[in-house]
Amino acid sequence: MKSLDTNNRRDFIKQIAVVSAFVALGGTGMVIMPKLKASDIFLRPPGALDEDDFLATCIKCGQCVQVCPYHTLSLLDISKGHAVGTPFVNARDRGCYLCDLLPCVLACPSGALEHTTSEAKDVKMGVAYLKHTNNCLAYRGENITKDHLARILNTTASNEREQKILDDYAKYEGKPCTICADMCPFPQKEQAIEMVQNSEGRWLPQVNDQCIGCGVCEELCPTKEASIVIIPRVSFAQHYKG
Ligand code: SF4
Ligand code: SF4
Ligand code: SF4
Repeated sequence: MKSLDTNNRRDFIKQIAVVSAFVALGGTGMVIMPKLKASDIFLRPPGALDEDDFLATCIKCGQCVQVCPYHTLSLLDISKGHAVGTPFVNARDRGCYLCDLLPCVLACPSGALEHTTSEAKDVKMGVAYLKHTNNCLAYRGENITKDHLARILNTTASNEREQKILDDYAKYEGKPCTICADMCPFPQKEQAIEMVQNSEGRWLPQVNDQCIGCGVCEELCPTKEASIVIIPRVSFAQHYKG
């Protein structure tokens, strides 16, 4: 968990400095912009316009980053070419907890985060995908150990909301893994993800059609490499039925 009071604020100032330096140098024609790779499709905050419109509209002010109580958002660095300074979610570090009233959207002064997105069901960030079923503890029939939980529990909460995540997470030690299904922040979570019993009686996670790709399941998945990952900018229908 990141602390805004220390590391995050320092990172944010660094990012702003990079953006400022880029803008200043850009005026002299001295900057060569790195090209984005086709694989550089970013998980954007709730309400983000389609990528081309988002890049054209976001003024890189960082307001969304500043108001996020979970410290979910960061600004892309200069290695990301024209996307430098725009906000994104690194889901493995911290997903989006779909706060009431989506304060990041309300804080956006440019409309890059569309104000018509006002609640969780309006959000379309991407979709979750069980990428590594061979690692998933539910598929393997293994219980959660202290080591599995350490990546998250060794971090520091900087407010009550972040502390609640740690407290809830700590309760899983010694239990079968249902973390992705239990800790999904979508209000009707079973419509986004649920544990379903297979023909052998084993309970396995299943992504459902209301998943909006918030990234919390990827963040909290206790396997070394996340067994469940987010495909950004893709809907459930596109990924699972396309
Ligand atoms: S909805 Fe909340 S947790 Fe998600 S990015 Fe916006 S402010 Fe952060
Ligand atoms: S949190 Fe990860 S390991 Fe646990 S059931 Fe979900 S995908 Fe599997
Ligand atoms: S399954 Fe839940 S936690 Fe995972 S991305 Fe979808 S809405 Fe978010």
